[in-house]
Formats: sequence, structure tokens, C-alpha cells
Amino acid sequence: MEKLKQFNYTPMLGWSVSRYDLFQKCKHQYYFNYYGKYDQEYDYSHINRLKDMTSIPLEIGNIVHDVIKSLLERLLKNEGKIDRGRFLDFTQRKTESYCQAKTFSEVYYNEIKDIDINSIFDSVSKCLVNFIDSDRFIWLTEKAVNNKKEWLIEPPGYGETIIEGRKAYCKVDFLFPLDDKIFIIDWKTGKPQEEKHNFQLLGYSTWASYHYGMDPTNIIPIIAYLKPEYYEKECKINEYDIQKFSSCVRAQTEEMYEYCLNIEENIPKDRESFYKTNNQAICNYCNFRELCK
Ligand code: SF4
Repeated sequence: MEKLKQFNYTPMLGWSVSRYDLFQKCKHQYYFNYYGKYDQEYDYSHINRLKDMTSIPLEIGNIVHDVIKSLLERLLKNEGKIDRGRFLDFTQRKTESYCQAKTFSEVYYNEIKDIDINSIFDSVSKCLVNFIDSDRFIWLTEKAVNNKKEWLIEPPGYGETIIEGRKAYCKVDFLFPLDDKIFIIDWKTGKPQEEKHNFQLLGYSTWASYHYGMDPTNIIPIIAYLKPEYYEKECKINEYDIQKFSSCVRAQTEEMYEYCLNIEENIPKDRESFYKTNNQAICNYCNFRELCK
């Protein structure tokens, strides 16, 4: 496959599903998350510490993604059968080291006294066992592996692309060509969110179509839900879907530009312009809640 296109750095904001998702949820949280260094009141290092906090569900997802990455990388070197016991030992060590190195928002905000690493390992290992027991994993190890030189496992960088002349990010977990198609697989440890995830799949197709000049009908983006059972959602995409997606990304990017004082340099308006949500359910999970009086 061709190499990924490279981009020169520009400070302009780049659209992504997660950026716009946060923008919609709470503008104030969006400000702290993306523009903390411009804040006049709070120390940037403190804002960053809050931003870097993890949560139990987030960390489960993070560990699962990293273990699957290691598993696929192991298949690149050695196609032998996975030793389940050793695989789970490796996962347990990874879970312990990740959890010990992180600050959990649940602990920081005194919702729980300490995290239960065993229970996190339990959730992580369920996701991973579901994956290695899935038909998809068997297919990967028996068929897709024949073209493993072309596998792209969590490509480096942030998944930058250009949509309608504007910067955007669509970072894929795993991509590979097989026969005349490109397959993209994204792992999810949370609940299905149909609309959001379909939109994400369109982003992956747009990204792959841009980088590899491929007809979108030959790109097969798949979301793999890892729990409670392994379940996949595949999207059939055509040129019209990509056009609709691109127009939507343009409109969402324009909305976010409206909160910039200087669009080229991505300098935000004052924090007061970024209003707070009234939805307490969003605040309950916000890392910045102590700054939000
Ligand atoms: S605590 Fe609520 S209002 Fe404040 S930044 Fe967080 S989500 Fe927004």
C-alpha cells in the first residue's frame, strides 16, 4: 500500500468526532480540554493534570486497545497459537502497571477510596477473551494474516486528513488490505452508540479514501464491540455518504471556529464565551468539575 500522506504543522483546529462531541456536551469543558493554556485564572499545569486523569471505563478501553495492539504485533512476528494463560498473565501485568501509573477521577473526587484493579482486570480480560474467541480473530489468524506485511496497527500520528480543505482527525485502530478491499476495524469496550459510531465509520472511510485514493465502496469499516458479547457493526458506504459526511464535518468545523478569536492560530475567545451545560449528568463525569463553580 502507498505510504500515508504527510502534513506540515499548522495551528488551526482540526475536527474530530471526539472534539465535536465534547463541544456539543459542554463548551466550558471543551475550553478547559483544548484551550487550558489560555486561561487567566488557573495554572495550566493544574488544568493539564485534571485533563490527564483517567476513569475506570476509559482505562478499561485503553488497556484493551493496547493489549490488542500487542497481540496483533505478536502475530506479525509469530503466527503460532496464542497461549491463553500467558496472554492473560501479560494482560494482568499490563493492567496493574497502567492502573498504578494513573490518577483516576473516581478516586480524585472521592467517589471511591481506591480502585479495584482485580475488577478492572476482570472487565479487560472479558473483552479480550471475547475477541480471541471470535470468528473475526480466527479469520485474522487464518486468512488476513497472509497479507500481514500490509497491516497498519494503530498508525502513528493522530490520523490527520483533509476534508473539504479543512484539517480533520480520524484515527483508526487497525487497517489492512485484503483482495481488492481495505478493512478497517475499531474496537469498542463501551455500549453501542449507533449514530456516533456510524459517523465515526464514515470518518475512517473518508480518511482511507483520501490517503489511498480508494473508491469508498471498496473500504469496509467495522466496529467491533467487545462486551458483553463480541458483536460487529459493518457499514456499507458510497460516494454520496462521503459527500454528506464531508459537508457535515465542514458545518461542525465552522461552528467550532466561531469560538475562536483567531481562526488561523486557533486562539479562543474568553472562557466566559464557552457556556456551561445545565446537564448535571455530564458534570458528574467531568474532570474539571472542581474548577467550575
Ligand atoms: S462541571 Fe459541568 S459545566 Fe463545568 S465544565 Fe464540567 S461539564 Fe461543563
